[in-house]
Amino acid sequence: MFASVIIDQDAKALDRVFDYRIPDGLDVQKGMRVNVPFGARILQGFVIDIKEKSSVSENKIKSIYSTIENFPVIKKELLELMNFMCDEFHLRQSSVLRLFLPSEMREGKVKELFAKYATLCENYDKNNLKRAKKQLLAVEKLENEKRIKLSDLKAEFGESAIKALVDKQIIILELEEIKRVPYVAHRSDKKISLRKQQEEAIAAVKGSGTYLLHGVTGSGKTEVYMHLISRVLDEGKSAIMLVPEISLTPQVVSTFRARFGDKIALLHSSLSAGERFDEWRRIFSGEAGVVVGARSAIFAPVENVGMIIIDEEHEQSYVSESNPRYISEVVAAFRAKYNGCPLVLGSATPSVDDYQRAKQGEISLIEMPLRANGKELPRIQIIDMMGEIRSGNSGMFSSQLLSDLAKVINDKKQAMIFINRRGYSSFMMCRECGYVAKCNDCDVSLVYHREDNRLKCHYCGKQYRVLDKCPNCGSDKIKQGAVGTEKVVGELQSIFPDVKILRMDNDTTSKKNSHQKILEDFASTKPAILVGTQMIAKGHDFEDVTLVGIVDADQSLYRSDYRSTERCFQLITQVSGRAGRSQFEGKVDLQTYSPKHYVYKFAANYDYKSFFKKEANIRQTAAFPPFSKIIRILFSHSDENVVKDELKSCYNRLLKVREKYFDDIIYMDAMKSPIKRIKNSFRYQVIIRLKLDSKHIEDEIFECTQEALKSSVFFEVNPENMS
Ligand code: ADP
Ligand code: ZN
Ligand code: ZN
Repeated sequence: MFASVIIDQDAKALDRVFDYRIPDGLDVQKGMRVNVPFGARILQGFVIDIKEKSSVSENKIKSIYSTIENFPVIKKELLELMNFMCDEFHLRQSSVLRLFLPSEMREGKVKELFAKYATLCENYDKNNLKRAKKQLLAVEKLENEKRIKLSDLKAEFGESAIKALVDKQIIILELEEIKRVPYVAHRSDKKISLRKQQEEAIAAVKGSGTYLLHGVTGSGKTEVYMHLISRVLDEGKSAIMLVPEISLTPQVVSTFRARFGDKIALLHSSLSAGERFDEWRRIFSGEAGVVVGARSAIFAPVENVGMIIIDEEHEQSYVSESNPRYISEVVAAFRAKYNGCPLVLGSATPSVDDYQRAKQGEISLIEMPLRANGKELPRIQIIDMMGEIRSGNSGMFSSQLLSDLAKVINDKKQAMIFINRRGYSSFMMCRECGYVAKCNDCDVSLVYHREDNRLKCHYCGKQYRVLDKCPNCGSDKIKQGAVGTEKVVGELQSIFPDVKILRMDNDTTSKKNSHQKILEDFASTKPAILVGTQMIAKGHDFEDVTLVGIVDADQSLYRSDYRSTERCFQLITQVSGRAGRSQFEGKVDLQTYSPKHYVYKFAANYDYKSFFKKEANIRQTAAFPPFSKIIRILFSHSDENVVKDELKSCYNRLLKVREKYFDDIIYMDAMKSPIKRIKNSFRYQVIIRLKLDSKHIEDEIFECTQEALKSSVFFEVNPENMS
C-alpha cells in the first residue's frame, strides 16, 4: 500500500503530493502525521490519501519512516475542507493543514502535559540526612503536605537536593496529567423567559441554509444563540460559535460557561500554548461539544456539527489578513453545508455584502428590532464641533458632553468614552514647516506615548527618542497632533479629579488577563468612566452605563477605503449600544466636525435599512463590492528594483488576461501602496476590479502572480485594508 503525503514545510517547491510506501506492520491511515525520508533529512508530513498503486517506480519510492501519532489528527471533513480552501483562496495544502492543528503540537513545543509530583516512599529512612540540611527540610515538608509538585520542590530546595533524595529512594516521582483550563470569570446562569422576537428567531432557524440575524444591540441575540446550541446538544450534536477576539468579551464567555459548563471549549489567541493544546484535545476527543472561539476556531476538529454561529458577523477580524488569507464566513458555510446544518450570522449592523445577499434571497433574514429590556435605544445627539469652536471652546470635549458627564457622576452611574486611536496623541508635527516624525523603516508617522515618553511605530514596534527640535528647520515649535486615549484620560482626570477613570487600549491590555481586570474594576466602581478604543465598542454589557461619548467620530470616515462609511456606521451603532442596557435610560453624545454627513443622520436614528439603501446605491453606481470583486496583489521586497521588475512582468501577463476578458475587467492598475514601506520592505500593488461570477478569471489572474519568485506576493479578494 502507498500513501500520498503533503510535506509540512511552507515552501513552494514542496507544495505537491509525494508518494511513500507503507511498510508492513505500520498502521497508516488517512489524516495521520508521519515522518518521511526526504533527501538526506527526515521531515514531517500529513497523509492525505491511501492507495494501492503509485506511479513512482518501484526502485525510487521510499518508505514512511514512522507515524507521529497512532491516530488520524486530521479528520475526513477537514481533509475535504483543505481541498476546498486551496481552490477558493489560492492557498498551499501544507499551509491550510497547519491551520487545523495547534502550532504547539506541530513544533512539539507543548510542555507539561504531565506534571511530576513527589511523594515519600514507603519505609524511607531519613536518619542519615542530618548533614544534608536541604534534603531534610524537603522531606519534612513532604511529611506535612504528602504530595508536592516537583517543580515547586526544586524551586525551594534546589535541583541537586531533590535528585539526591530520588537516588536514595526516599522520594518517588509520579506523572500526572494537568488540565489547563482557561480563566473565565464566574457568573451564575440567569433563567430568562424569552421574548416573542427571540422565540420567533429560534423557530425560524431550521434545517440547513444560512440565516442573517439582524437584531439591534441589546435585542438578546446571545440568548438566541444559547437556545440554538442547547437544541443541537439535545440532539447529540455539536456546535461552533465564533465571536470577535473573544478575550475582549469575557462576559459572553462567562455567560456561556455558566450555561454549558464543561461542554464548552475556548479557543483564542490569548490562551497559553498549553491551554490551547488541552482545549483542542478536549474538542478532538468529543469531550467538549461546544466550541466558542475567535476566527480560527472555525477549524475546530468537532464532528457531527449541528449549528454554526458567527456573532458580530460584520467584524473585520473574521478575515485573516496575513498568509494564509481566508474568510471565516466562507469556511463556515462549507462546514455547514458538509454537515447539513444551519449557519447563523448575527449582527446589529450586518455587512453590506451579507445584507445584499439577504435582500436577493440567497440567505434568510431574521429581524429582532426591539431591545430585550423593552426600552428604547439610547438617544444619539450629534454635536457639531465646528460650532463649539465658533463659540470659543477649542477643547476636545463639547460643553454638552461635559455637562452630561457631570450628571452621570452626580447620579453615581457610569460612562464610556470612545476614542478612535491609541497613544497620547497621534503624531509629532513641526508648526513652522509641517515636518512629521516618521519611522525609518516604514512609511508611517510615529505615535507619541507619554507613559514612557517615546515615539513608537505602530507597524514595526520600533521606538524613537522624542524630538525637541525640528530636524528639518530647527524650530522648537514641535507639537503633538490629534487626540489619543491617554490624553483624554489626562484631561478628564483634571476636570473630574475625584472620579475613577479607567483606560482600555492596546497598551493597557498587553498582559494576560488584563482586559478582564480592567473590566472587573470598572464593573465594581460607581461612578466611573471607561475611556477606550475599539476594544470597548463590542459585547460589553454593563447595567450602569448611562452615557456614551464618542470623541472623534470622523476618524473612521476619512480612510481611503470603500468600506470606511460602512465601518463608521457600524462603530457608532456598536458603541452606542453600550448605553442604557438595563432599567436606566441611556444617551450618546456624538462629536463630529462633519455633522452633515449622511452616515450620522442614519446612525443617529438607528436606521440601518436607509443607510444600507444609500450605501448600496453608491457602491452599485461606482461598481464596488458587493456589486463587483476587488483583487489586490501586493508585492513586497527589501530591494525596490526587485519589486518593480517583478510587478512589471506580472502586469504584462495581466494585460493579456485583460485583453481576453475585456468586458469583465472593470478596472486594472499598478501603483505604489499607500504605505510604501513596512519593516524596510518596499510595497507595490496591482488593483483589479472584476464583474461578479468570475472565479475562472480570478484563477487566471492568480496564475499570473506565480512567476514572481523573489518578492513576497499577497493575493487578496475584497481586501479589508487597502493600505
Ligand atoms: P445583543 O447581543 O443582542 O446585543 P444581549 O444578548 O447582550 O444583546 O442581551 C442584552 C441584555 O438583555 C442582556 O443583559 C440579557 O441578559 C438581556 N436579555 C436577553 N433576553 C432577555 C429576555 N428575554 N428578557 C429579559 N432580558 C433579556
Ligand atoms: Zn516602523
Ligand atoms: Zn520644521
